[in-house]
Amino acid sequence: MRKIDYHMHTRYSFDSEAEPREHVLQAIKMGLDEICFTDHRDFDYPIDPFELDVEPYFKEMRALQDEFKDQITIKIGVEIGLDTEHIEEINEFINASPYDFVIGSIHVIHHTEFYYGEFFKGKTKEEAHREFFEETLKCVETFDCFNVLGHLDYIMRYGPYKDKRVDHARYQDLIDTILMILIKKGKGIEVNTSGYATNGDCGFPNFDIVRRYKELGGTIITVGTDSHTSDRVGEHVADVIAHYQAIGFKDVSTFTKRQLD
Ligand SMILES: [Zn+2]
Ligand SMILES: [Zn+2]
Repeated sequence: MRKIDYHMHTRYSFDSEAEPREHVLQAIKMGLDEICFTDHRDFDYPIDPFELDVEPYFKEMRALQDEFKDQITIKIGVEIGLDTEHIEEINEFINASPYDFVIGSIHVIHHTEFYYGEFFKGKTKEEAHREFFEETLKCVETFDCFNVLGHLDYIMRYGPYKDKRVDHARYQDLIDTILMILIKKGKGIEVNTSGYATNGDCGFPNFDIVRRYKELGGTIITVGTDSHTSDRVGEHVADVIAHYQAIGFKDVSTFTKRQLD
């Protein structure tokens, strides 16, 4: 199975200062076969401006593709914040540039975000988590412009709760419906290894959900570190690949111009 890192941020994202070239060097050091840059674009993020300067982004990433073409395959993607209040802008933004790969992520719900905690105000943990999965379901029903759903249960990274973890069994029907819609639409899931910091032995989502995705007929899987600094590029990728193999996948999925390779 190939080793990839299909979720990386650089200084083209508002929340990262990382040099793209440093990511590439670290990926080579980690023995990765392929990487994809996926800098942020969110419409209507309430506090920070998650815009993407598309032209210089493509220019710089294309130069890196060329410079390192004998050492590693580099793809140019984006992590788009899915938000049902900005359907047209999101589709237009994605269709305006030749991205190889698009991660669709839920970062904002009704103008509230998770990072600063606004979303959780006045909600029990169960109410907040249920709303997150219901909104995720709405987004995967509504949007077609993405290839994989980003960090399916990363809501557990945030929230004013002592135990932030998601009790997946409570929302299994919702999670199953999300997975079935993804499968029907030919979309995949990622394991986002930033989740190891929260979960210890797995990412977002955990391997039970990956197993469930496969049981239901899913075949499209990527792995990404969500690196915002170069030292994390490739982190836990080998562990995720080993689990993918044990679950019964033959290889990870890679993309060019939003089509499966
Ligand atoms: Zn994200
Ligand atoms: Zn990300």
